Amino acid sequence: MFREDFPMLNKNIIYFDNGATTFKPNCVINSIVDYYENYSANAHRGDYKISAKVDEAYEGVREKVRKFINAKEASEIVFTSGTTDGINKIVFGYFINTLKKDDEVLITESEHASNILPWFILEKKIGIKVKYIKLNNNNEVTIDNLSDSITNKTKVISLAHITNVIGDIRPIKEISALAHQHNILVVVDSAQSLGHIKTDVQDMDIDFLTGSAHKIYGPTGVGFLYGKFNLLDTMVPTEYGGGMNAMFLNNGYIELREIPTRLEAGTPNIAGVIGMGSAIDYIEKIGLDKIHKYELELKKYLLQELKQIKDIEIYNENNIGTTVAFNIKEIFSQDLAVYLDKHNICIRAGNHCAKILNNVFNVNNTCRISLSFYNTKEEIDKFIKVLKNTDNIWNEIL
Ligand code: PMP
Repeated sequence: MFREDFPMLNKNIIYFDNGATTFKPNCVINSIVDYYENYSANAHRGDYKISAKVDEAYEGVREKVRKFINAKEASEIVFTSGTTDGINKIVFGYFINTLKKDDEVLITESEHASNILPWFILEKKIGIKVKYIKLNNNNEVTIDNLSDSITNKTKVISLAHITNVIGDIRPIKEISALAHQHNILVVVDSAQSLGHIKTDVQDMDIDFLTGSAHKIYGPTGVGFLYGKFNLLDTMVPTEYGGGMNAMFLNNGYIELREIPTRLEAGTPNIAGVIGMGSAIDYIEKIGLDKIHKYELELKKYLLQELKQIKDIEIYNENNIGTTVAFNIKEIFSQDLAVYLDKHNICIRAGNHCAKILNNVFNVNNTCRISLSFYNTKEEIDKFIKVLKNTDNIWNEIL
């Protein structure tokens, strides 16, 4: 669908690595060029017309993000450099000040590094304990297993809405309901979900959430974090400088601005934020329901065709997301990726920043296909044709 919107799709490649980053449609690229060519001033600083236009565009995107995830207030949205930055700000700006020794944080072994490492560091800094929710046979989080993991020390549950290798979709609304019965806060890493399924932070009763623009057809190096107003309002900035202070004196006295400005020190990634706004407009114009339905159909077709490949092992056949993790027996995943690249097919191979997932899959490396709405059945057919010839692999890559 909508392939003509994406200049990268004219390059004679088949791109199946949308979980890593997505291609950008013309409207996103043009909005960034428009900013640089026509109103390239700083935000929140000038008293002249083009600066006012920047403020309007920049704050306008905050409102677009608010609507996109149905937050109550635009002030609950903080622009970041992406999901990793967002989780780090949440952990080191909020939880470092509110958790204490022996408090427990629940995650899973299928989280991305950026939803594991900050918690490990907090473990070292203040003595919290990171615990893992047991996954079911299908590598999913169930409410029963979550319930079994909760103790009177559990204070946080931090999970991806959709994981980046297995691609399972977590029942966030039910998870939040259970968490809140126990006064536990819920952090959601929505890096892999925002471009595929709807997110409603009020309906799902999410406390903190983070996302990256580059995975939803926007630019790299920009994203956002959401926090419920009362939580965000007590978050301590992790960076200090211009833009976020109301005044300071030579004796060290500092007065900070309101949220979210207080949490956005320095000149922001204005072009990136504007591009992210265009990406959100673009997705909303197509509609997430339509996107999700099409991607699921495509995944069903991909699985059906993949299963015909000799010696294939698929690790997440029964998961509902749009990601397929697999290996072909006796072929190292990275060798297969190099072979496919010779045929201009881009897939991901390795451990995909989910380095402890091998405890779940019992393999260290996998090949991963992550689909987008711009992929087609014809691309899958071409990929399968190349895959059927893997006997040739050594002649081609050596
Ligand atoms: N969480 C998940 C589930 C991801 O897939 C990724 C990116 N691969 C991240 C977090 C980190 O996102 P970013 O690199 O944009 O900060």
